[in-house]
Amino acid sequence: MSNLLSQTLYLNYLENPNPDDFGVSVESFLHYLQKATAIFLTGQDSSKTRAVCTLLHGNEPSGTQAVFDYLKAKTTPRFDTLFIIGSVQAASSKPFFSQRMQAGKRDLNRCFKAPYYDQQGQIAKAILDLLKDVKPECLVDIHNTSGSGPSFGVAITEDANHIAITSLFSNDLIVTDLRLGALMEQSEENMITVTIECGGAQDRSSQIIAHEGLHRYLSAERVMADINAQYPINIFHNPIRLETKNQGEVAYANEPYDAAVITLPEQAYKFNYGMLTTDEFIGYLSPNGFAQLTAIDHLGNERLDEFFETREGKLFSRHSIKVFMMTTNPFIAKTDCLFYFIGHS
Ligand SMILES: [Zn+2]
Repeated sequence: MSNLLSQTLYLNYLENPNPDDFGVSVESFLHYLQKATAIFLTGQDSSKTRAVCTLLHGNEPSGTQAVFDYLKAKTTPRFDTLFIIGSVQAASSKPFFSQRMQAGKRDLNRCFKAPYYDQQGQIAKAILDLLKDVKPECLVDIHNTSGSGPSFGVAITEDANHIAITSLFSNDLIVTDLRLGALMEQSEENMITVTIECGGAQDRSSQIIAHEGLHRYLSAERVMADINAQYPINIFHNPIRLETKNQGEVAYANEPYDAAVITLPEQAYKFNYGMLTTDEFIGYLSPNGFAQLTAIDHLGNERLDEFFETREGKLFSRHSIKVFMMTTNPFIAKTDCLFYFIGHS
């Protein structure tokens, strides 16, 4: 009973809604939803349910656009489907899809762990409770990267099923032991969960990846691993986050910015492509900027000196590294991280 109550308070629930009521745009769809919403669609076969979550971050529109297009097309999915649209209110602040979370509220995708003490925590708990009730065979959580970049999957478990689901969207899978309070960390206990990063919110390719991947995921007879199939997926383990200590300022400019611990180039998202080599300068450091950076791995070890060094006031990597999720948003950089990286020291 308490589960039902919290779902009504913090999470709208719609069953087979009429898509004509959503209006003609994804913005009118958000207006219709008003707040975090679960939408249940009856499939051709009700023997199982597949789940899709998106918009846990309000500035990541590709998944919501794909779900909106899917619903508007009035396609009947192969199996019953549960859609969850998370940060509707953050995404609805003007301009649309500009806010990762509402002012003064926590990042929803860091709230999927007890204690669920505030409104964001209660939304997270309502989503988890609903997933436990519905028991989907699997869950895909669709995001955009904070800067422009290629798509990849993220999972906390590495096995054939996670690889098979990733292959519907991307060729790269990151397997991480980091625990941040993200949805997949809890949902994985009950269902196979893959987070899909479609690429940057502004990248045209992100929309195509979300759209095509969602269609494949919802129309396939089978999304779990087929022992006879080959999945050409590159797997990367345990990326490390580069952060500023105590939320030190990060700037993006082509000249060093005095008040910032580090100033990265305005086109820093370019580091998301290919490998970052030891001769590419990452950013300008303030006089004691290096000491204000931190790169702690999933085991809690500081790895900054092992992977990075200062040369004439600039930050360089000491080994070739692969960079993910490089943002060019100073707020995200200082409150979350500058980027994730993987490399061998
Ligand atoms: Zn996100």
